[in-house]
Amino acid sequence: MAFGGIEAGGTKWVCAVGTGPDDVRDSVVFPTGAPEETIARATEFLGANGALDAVGVGSFGPVDLRLGRITTTPKPGWRDTDVASVVAAALGVPVAFDTDVNAAALGEHRWGAARGLDTFVYVTVGTGIGGGGMVEGRLLHGMQHPEIGHMRVPHDRARDPFDGICPYHGDCLEGLAAGEAMKARGDTPLELEAEYLALGLLNVVTVLSPQLIVLGGGVMHKAGLLELVRGRMDELAAGYVAVPDVVAPGLGDRAGVLGALELARLALTDG
Ligand code: ZN
Repeated sequence: MAFGGIEAGGTKWVCAVGTGPDDVRDSVVFPTGAPEETIARATEFLGANGALDAVGVGSFGPVDLRLGRITTTPKPGWRDTDVASVVAAALGVPVAFDTDVNAAALGEHRWGAARGLDTFVYVTVGTGIGGGGMVEGRLLHGMQHPEIGHMRVPHDRARDPFDGICPYHGDCLEGLAAGEAMKARGDTPLELEAEYLALGLLNVVTVLSPQLIVLGGGVMHKAGLLELVRGRMDELAAGYVAVPDVVAPGLGDRAGVLGALELARLALTDG
């Protein structure tokens, strides 16, 4: 068997061929350009690696999961972009399509920190903030798909006068705490960053009761931030709800693309 995996991010695309972490036969990373050339670059890479059985795509969003397309993204040029059908037409294989964060959650479930669990979330704090996960053994989709980054969190303007950078909501969680927000604010104390992430993750805990939170993304590479978030979540929970463990991805920054390989495998076995 050989699968193709595409982690289609708003900043970069990661593509791999193989079946899992111990069997990555080739991989490539390139910056996200215009839609047509970016998708073509991915399919050319995958197509050059011999016959594939299926391809999985974990995409930035928002997406329409049934149509396999990116919808209302503010990213210039990418609004209403078909992805899955273009990849399928180029390679002639079944294509499974989900959000980048659900793909990462799936990768963590199969090989990473969430092995053996059936209800957990994967949240990434990078350029933006996104989250996906599994509830009782199934990837969470619902009406559209979760948009954890765009939840509202308390914003104390006396402590943090920054308006936020979300083009839709201003000071939603992503608007206040994503990497781009930290950059725009200038100096973001780690305690403030941890405060927003803890508020957001505690909201997730109260709604989904996850057994684990996997917290990835470039911002989480900052030394000490994960511990600050954990500590603040415990304080904010105030002893009422049980706070699950919050851990770094077992697959590191490869969770998304490896999860895309698993999406491909499931596309064949689940029909
Ligand atoms: Zn927002």
